[in-house]
Amino acid sequence: MENKKIVIGNQKIYMSVNEVGEFLKEITGKVLTSNVVICPTTLYIPYFLKHRYSVGIQNVCEYDVGQYTGEVSAQQASEIGLKYALVGHSERRSYYNEDNDVINSKIKNLLKANIIPVLCVGETSEEKNLFKTKKVLKSDLISCLNKVSSEDIEKIIIAYEPVWAIGTKRIPTMAEIKSNVAYIKDLIKQIYKKEIRVIYGGSVNPNNIEKLNRIDNVDGFLVGGSSTKAEEFLKIIEVVVNQ
Ligand code: PEP
Repeated sequence: MENKKIVIGNQKIYMSVNEVGEFLKEITGKVLTSNVVICPTTLYIPYFLKHRYSVGIQNVCEYDVGQYTGEVSAQQASEIGLKYALVGHSERRSYYNEDNDVINSKIKNLLKANIIPVLCVGETSEEKNLFKTKKVLKSDLISCLNKVSSEDIEKIIIAYEPVWAIGTKRIPTMAEIKSNVAYIKDLIKQIYKKEIRVIYGGSVNPNNIEKLNRIDNVDGFLVGGSSTKAEEFLKIIEVVVNQ
């Protein structure tokens, strides 16, 4: 298992092409470590590849090849040099009805294509209030990882992303994050006898990164909004990766 912490930016569809150009100008020369991954809007991926960033894709098709208009396959993503892919993000689950079976197919396609899946799991606020967080984490992880081999499991990164913390400026307590990350790691260890990386995502920003980075079992961060603003993203990288 990789020891160094990782920062993954998820830029969703926040930026115009001009803003991407400005962002690239501002970060170029300052970020080129393999432990910083940017998942741009799919259309902009070539700009980031050209500047030799470590690039991920925000979504891939659940199928390998065929008549799936508008989709990108894991194999195609791999062929242009992508190394990571988000999968199971709560926005995909809620707006595009992706269930754990679809997510499981995507993970298998990604592994076959040699791309690291970044599997997002986390509870809704309702589930949190009903004290169901660990139950949800367990059932989602078990279904999403169904029939993934113990050799492949080590390649996967799990992002613990409470749904209620995404884009809301609200985050769990440090103790809650530590406990849920430990739970995920223990569960994988029990099932596969392997250690995996677990990162935290949900309203990470320059103001909370120092305290989040002190949680000793978190292996990095998935950053949405703050990954679209060069200054904020650089501050997060400085704290997490460059220290
Ligand atoms: C995300 O969407 O994965 C995310 C972490 O978003 P934000 O940082 O904006 O909460």
